[in-house]
Amino acid sequence: MIIVLKPNVSKEEIHNLVARIKEKGLKPVEFEGDERTVIHVLGSVTDDIVNSFSSVSCVEKVMRILKPFKLASRENHSATTVVKVGDVSIGNGEVVVIAGPCSIESEEQIMESAEIMKKLGIKIMRASAFKPRTSPYDFQGMGIKGLKLLKKVKEKTGMLVETEVMDVRDVPIAAEYVDVLRVGARNMQNFDLLKELGKINKPVILKRGMAATINEFVMAAEYILFHGNKNVILCERGIRTFETAYRNTLDVGAVAILKNMTHLPVIVDPSHAAGKRELIAPLSKAAIAAGADGLLIEAHPNPEKALSDGAQSLYPEQLAQLLKELKPLCEALGRTLG
Ligand code: PEP
Ligand code: MN
Repeated sequence: MIIVLKPNVSKEEIHNLVARIKEKGLKPVEFEGDERTVIHVLGSVTDDIVNSFSSVSCVEKVMRILKPFKLASRENHSATTVVKVGDVSIGNGEVVVIAGPCSIESEEQIMESAEIMKKLGIKIMRASAFKPRTSPYDFQGMGIKGLKLLKKVKEKTGMLVETEVMDVRDVPIAAEYVDVLRVGARNMQNFDLLKELGKINKPVILKRGMAATINEFVMAAEYILFHGNKNVILCERGIRTFETAYRNTLDVGAVAILKNMTHLPVIVDPSHAAGKRELIAPLSKAAIAAGADGLLIEAHPNPEKALSDGAQSLYPEQLAQLLKELKPLCEALGRTLG
């Protein structure tokens, strides 16, 4: 159920209403808008409950929601959520490019990457310390040592930093070191991890599982929202299809439908969709044209020497060229490149 309050209702009235909701064994989640507050009420809602709240003086209207995803749905939350990462806003119309190497490999490699990203005007750098590798024999990431290096990047360059978490135990530690936490495709339905991410106050990038339907994807986001974290960014990163010409099939349609179905910002990772660096530019452009709020791109100072995903990592000059090409595209679409 959604309770839409009248404009300019006092804090005390909201407080009393929230207490009444809790008394009924229901869970209120408040969304404060510029003009009015909306309260999503989760739990088992009967007609009697709907009627009793409809008659409260500060309430404008009460609506039942039938969609399984109540918090993520745009149905009763028409304004797009803007997720703030430091001073960067994702979802406000600007196109935000998050870029960096797949993995943190050494202090030298990550510092060199950071200098390059900084020079290109990237405000949020990606780099993973915990790596979900298909083979146990492949590079598994630097772990906490890597997180410490990301903190160093932040201190040295002033850039914001983003990394993946794979395990519930990593969440509080990563939240201490980085600005955005990422759930990788392989963990989209790791529900314990999602619950834990609901308890922190850092933004979360949730990637779509490679075999997940749109509904399953949104329900995974609902877990994080339900557990208390409203700062969720959805990320389409390609799905597994019959096609073998590239690593995954970028589902551009997902971007458009997610923007309709939910109020959450949607970004696109063309790198893991493509698996090949020559496809990054066209897929990035398609993503923006479909309405993406940002891109998550892998770039490496020396892709041939990368310990993971070198084939899909852009050379620094390719990233520079791509940014140059994206600028007029964004402008033609009435957007700006952030
Ligand atoms: C990544 O972004 O480094 C990654 C492992 O991507 P995905 O989870 O989409 O495969
Ligand atoms: Mn990668």
